[in-house]
Amino acid sequence: MAHDHDHEHDPDHDHEHDHDHGEHDHEHDAEVEARRRLALAQIRQYGDPALRLTAHDVTDFDDDLRRLVDRMVGLMHDAQGVGLAATQVGVLRRLFVFETDDDGVHAIVNPRIVERGDELESDTEGCLSLQGVRIPVERPTRVVLEGKDPHGEDVHLELEGYGARVVQHELDHLDGVLIIDRTDDEHRKEALSALRPRVALR
Ligand SMILES: [Zn+2]
Repeated sequence: MAHDHDHEHDPDHDHEHDHDHGEHDHEHDAEVEARRRLALAQIRQYGDPALRLTAHDVTDFDDDLRRLVDRMVGLMHDAQGVGLAATQVGVLRRLFVFETDDDGVHAIVNPRIVERGDELESDTEGCLSLQGVRIPVERPTRVVLEGKDPHGEDVHLELEGYGARVVQHELDHLDGVLIIDRTDDEHRKEALSALRPRVALR
């Protein structure tokens, strides 16, 4: 999932701040932006068939898995996202990483939602695989998530608000579901027309 504060990093507005920065800050910003673009280039983008496939359960909790988790956490940070699912890097295994402001990075393997609250809320979501798209998605505000950590230990998380939203978004990715499938017709049309030229240029 793309970061909730995208506007702070909006490259279209960077030039407005150039005069406020010293040379060092400018170089730093350029490096951060270069790293973001490099990470996005390694994340599958809308139109890539991997984003529509269903991932398979993980059976081996080995070093390969933990290397994949490390790589995904690095990409999520560089891309300035708050969540990344394995299908987004073309790996059809059921795991995702996420980080909300509350308590650091989580990597959840074979995740499943075992409980959903009754209350629904609509809020704007973005996605690292649908660049430039920000659309409203309605989801339960509270979920209980279970799964394993990368060492095979049980994980049980009770999440509310933003955290609940992020894990539902990432879990959707493991079933080939994208935010354009969960928004209203009007926003879906708008999103698809924004995505179309990007696909044509590939
Ligand atoms: Zn996403």
